[in-house]
Amino acid sequence: MAEHESLEFGKADFVLLDNVSLEEFMANLKLRFEKGRIYTYIGEVVVSVNPYRAMNIYGRDTIEQYKGRELYERPPHLFAIADAAYKAMKRRNKDTCIVISGESGAGKTEASKYIMQYIAAITNPGQRAEVERVKNMLLKSNCVLEAFGNAKTNRNDNSSRFGKYMDINFDFKGDPIGGHINNYLLEKSRVIFQQEGERSFHSFYQVCVCVCVSVYVCVTRQTDATISWYTDQMGRGSVTVLIIKSSIDDGADFKAVADAMKVIGFTADELQTVYKVLATILHLGNLTFGVDGDTTLIENSKVVAVIGDLLATKEENVEKALLYRTVATGRDVIDKQHTAQEASYGRDALAKAMYERMFCWIVGRINDVIEVKNYDAKVHGKNTVIGVLDIYGFEIFQNNSFEQFCINYCNEKLQQLFIQLVLRQEQEEYQREGIPWKHIDFFNNQIIVDLVELQHKGIFSVLDEACMNVGKVTDKVFLQGLNSKLVNHAHYTSRKLSPTDKSLEFDRDFRVRHYAGNVVYSVVGFIDKNKDTLFQDFKRLLYNSSNPVLKVMWPEGKLRITEVTKRPLTAATLFKNSMIALVENLACKEPYYVRCIKPNDVKSPLLFEHERCRHQVEYLGLLENVRVRRAGFANRQEYPRFLQRYKMISEFTWPNHDLPSEKEAVKKLLQGCGFEQDVAYGKTKVFIRTPRTLFCLEEQRTEMV
Ligand code: ADP
Ligand code: MG
Repeated sequence: MAEHESLEFGKADFVLLDNVSLEEFMANLKLRFEKGRIYTYIGEVVVSVNPYRAMNIYGRDTIEQYKGRELYERPPHLFAIADAAYKAMKRRNKDTCIVISGESGAGKTEASKYIMQYIAAITNPGQRAEVERVKNMLLKSNCVLEAFGNAKTNRNDNSSRFGKYMDINFDFKGDPIGGHINNYLLEKSRVIFQQEGERSFHSFYQVCVCVCVSVYVCVTRQTDATISWYTDQMGRGSVTVLIIKSSIDDGADFKAVADAMKVIGFTADELQTVYKVLATILHLGNLTFGVDGDTTLIENSKVVAVIGDLLATKEENVEKALLYRTVATGRDVIDKQHTAQEASYGRDALAKAMYERMFCWIVGRINDVIEVKNYDAKVHGKNTVIGVLDIYGFEIFQNNSFEQFCINYCNEKLQQLFIQLVLRQEQEEYQREGIPWKHIDFFNNQIIVDLVELQHKGIFSVLDEACMNVGKVTDKVFLQGLNSKLVNHAHYTSRKLSPTDKSLEFDRDFRVRHYAGNVVYSVVGFIDKNKDTLFQDFKRLLYNSSNPVLKVMWPEGKLRITEVTKRPLTAATLFKNSMIALVENLACKEPYYVRCIKPNDVKSPLLFEHERCRHQVEYLGLLENVRVRRAGFANRQEYPRFLQRYKMISEFTWPNHDLPSEKEAVKKLLQGCGFEQDVAYGKTKVFIRTPRTLFCLEEQRTEMV
């Protein structure tokens, strides 16, 4: 263990606590935070507390201290975990992943950036140009994704509003040769609505302040979209008001993002199209609809002309797509006029869809550039991967809707993975190997995962069924379906099922007992958000644009109305599928964990709010993690492999042994070194309790070879 860390900073590893109790855990966490030690281990898991101040611990000199070192040689740090994942990948040819979890503002995204920086800094000693190019792209992609996927919220000035998983591919030398980004569930509702004190995505404000681009946004005084309803709902007058108040410099960020996009290889036309899409959305925010007798009309038609220009299509096409939808009745195709309400709904759906589609297109373009091409494993050896997952943590808001439901389901999936990989596998292995072992109780959340995702019975299935109904589909029908199907589920409650519960409303709410706590969800909007309808007419409008970049984003607009038969997959199904794929992908890698904790709600570097932190420690399952770890062994190796590595340190095993089995040989070797107390012998593997023993073995080995 990091012995040079004196005890005045608390225990560097929670495994070393005298008693594993919540009190001692919290006391150690607090002490370390107050002493400026923001990282602490649980074995190989890093617990991190957001310092809310610049820390001088990420520089070149610190990187050098961690490079190639073992975990326990240096004070706890993200770099040590990054190095461990890197070493496992390089030495043992293993795919590894680093899973970063925690609630909004806990420091996940910052951690993922430091990890990437570390990996970039320690690789490519030969300065190969292609590797440098790849590294540069990987780092630059962050800045672009943040501009389009992050926003100021009340919890975090730079909150990621999407989940991100990034694979970095390495060649046999251990140098990065490419990567791939997966993005999950962008919070697109933010495009049309934000809570008080929050902003839309950074990108909107960036185009508004940048003079050379604002020509799109501010075409004439009458159609100035720098004052767009979408970004200015509170009548704040102008977006610039919010900019001055916040810690964000949109002008400088605009330039950095544009530069990064150019470096990544976005063409001038592509950049212009991005700005035009942003401008279009802002203008859409100012469109209002009215009625004149039986006719629905657009009240500010000048805006339509501007949008037509921006989208490289005729004004009348835009107007028609906004006011009518084409429907096929038998063999006839007719234009059906929207009501003003339908038209507004369509306008908002268009704004959200255009943004989301553009975001996915940007991710796709980055992937085109960073993806590994022409790698021949036969020539170059195995191409290994480190995955970094930075994804939204558990959310409990005042009003929780479909988005929170998806996000919390995602966290249940990740917790399940954690249980499987870290807790259960560990216990099962001891049993298999016949190592004496005291069973540790932990809550297995599989039951909640099932509650959400099970075919036919789960909440997502009930929701999809409700959306399938012909006739009147309402959120209430969905709630009735839930109440009748889940009446007996231990983790599901509604007011109907628990009439005395005042926290729930009769026709609106249901509650899920998540592993991290109870969350009341309002069903209002579930059906709409799940169906996620965008009228076909808009898809055709965008596909038929004479701007080729825009056209590429909307391939399905090619279909004529009579050809559209398949119902698109619902948002819930898409999300569920993406989560299942994510977990499968992570499960076949060797995982490393960073568990982030947010110490207070006021972004203060000084305040450690006990209750707040305790809650996070509990729902992250950190105490169980310590217990399992303490009961367990830091390291295990199969006898032949162990012998192969360390046989030179014992006269009984070097160069060959004459013992009846490799197990006996390992016993003899370890007895000779005096490590007998710290190891256990399983059926096929030797188990080593503390890392220090392994460290000593390594040292002795180095002396011998
Ligand atoms: P999350 O991704 O978990 O929502 P972020 O990583 O965006 O949270 O962190 C929120 C804010 O907290 C950052 O903008 C930064 O101000 C601060 N912060 C987080 N981690 C660190 C760190 N290691 N050092 C200094 N400040 C940090
Ligand atoms: Mg984030």
